[in-house]
Amino acid sequence: MRAEVIAIGDELTTGQRLDTNSQWLARELGVIGIPVAFHTTVTDSLEDGVAAFRIAASRADVILSTGGLGPTADDLTRDVLSLTVDLPLELSDAALAAVEARFAARVMPMPQTNRRQAMFPKASRIIPNPDGTAPGIDIDIARVGGGTCRAFALPGVPSEMRVMWEQTVKQALLAMQPDASTLVFRRIKCFGAGESAVEAMLPDLIRRGRDPLVGITVHEGTITLRIAARGRTVTECLAKIAPTEAIIRTHLGQLVYGVEDEELQDAALAAIDAAGATLATIEVATHGQIASLFAASAARMALEPSNAQSTLRPPTLVGSIVVPDGNIPLSVDQLVEQCRRGFGATHILAVGSVVSEGEQGTGSETVEIVLAGPEGALRLCHRLGGGGSLRRSRAAQTAIDLVRKAMEAKTVPTRGRHTNDPSF
Ligand code: ATP
Ligand code: MG
Repeated sequence: MRAEVIAIGDELTTGQRLDTNSQWLARELGVIGIPVAFHTTVTDSLEDGVAAFRIAASRADVILSTGGLGPTADDLTRDVLSLTVDLPLELSDAALAAVEARFAARVMPMPQTNRRQAMFPKASRIIPNPDGTAPGIDIDIARVGGGTCRAFALPGVPSEMRVMWEQTVKQALLAMQPDASTLVFRRIKCFGAGESAVEAMLPDLIRRGRDPLVGITVHEGTITLRIAARGRTVTECLAKIAPTEAIIRTHLGQLVYGVEDEELQDAALAAIDAAGATLATIEVATHGQIASLFAASAARMALEPSNAQSTLRPPTLVGSIVVPDGNIPLSVDQLVEQCRRGFGATHILAVGSVVSEGEQGTGSETVEIVLAGPEGALRLCHRLGGGGSLRRSRAAQTAIDLVRKAMEAKTVPTRGRHTNDPSF
């Protein structure tokens, strides 16, 4: 059984509003084990609407649509469905009573246009809407070649749509599945290698049809491997995920920094903390991005109830200095010294200014990053690529990752040293 999600509305096709309903429904369908094969977004027009439902019915077993169920002239979903199945609209006395009752409760006369909301295509079922006036429509659409597709039309208002999904649609879909299954996702986050390099390190893992399925996405230098497992219970799915996660961790080693929503800076802070170290930063090329990423992460972590005690410990981040860009006469080692004098941190992270080599425009640009600690200094040159802000954020991420790896190497012995710098 597979699904198609249809989002209806000119607001969506013109780009004035982002279609979040489809995202939400697709996730929910996944959770109950129904894969979504297509997303369609269509205008508020009869013709386009009928075309969208006919196409969807020809290629999916269930359709979930949102929008166009209101009382106004541009709300045409009921008419679209009536034309799609070629059956007339009929007044439902029960639905009319419910719409009237909602207006009566607010001591308001019901406008005649709202009668439309009690009209349903013949042979359809009504999906109650406890939070609004527009009930939904549950209808079977006959396919040209035989068989039927079941469509659930829900209102566009996200809160109403969600309640109706929870209270009615989900149960109906679960009842349609002979052996109900569930889908569980696990995201493994990596940093420090490109998408294709990561893929090459995981032979045969990222392959269509694999069970569990592993997908790869990249966002601002972070690579996410998403494991999707289907099973009868969540426990069964988790048991399927574990060996795949182990393979990923074995092959990628220190490239893996976390899971789920964890950010690189969260992992770095946790690693500094676990190593019993403290950090101060001094930045030129990165315009304070490192300090701001760390500060936001520390603030987020402090808000987590499980970390309430951490506020009692000495802060992991001791301080930061941001030096304005331009021709800074200080070397990275001098920056480290400046920072060391200012703060009593065990470790100093310094990002120098941009160094251009060769003729302007033709030569390469690099920044030097140093992590200095009691054991010595780790040093790396980061080549800048991309536009200005992207360059800065990549350099900041690279510096943060240097801290993470160095701190993890102290506390996770099997991972060992990640560089051949003998002084660290
Ligand atoms: P109403 O009874 O409010 O008219 P409706 O079923 O006719 O409900 P629409 O008129 O299409 O739904 O949309 C109502 C509101 O719901 C929109 O103005 C928008 O704010 C929100 N909405 C509609 N579709 C979506 C969507 N796909 N994603 C997010 N929000 C949406
Ligand atoms: Mg509307």
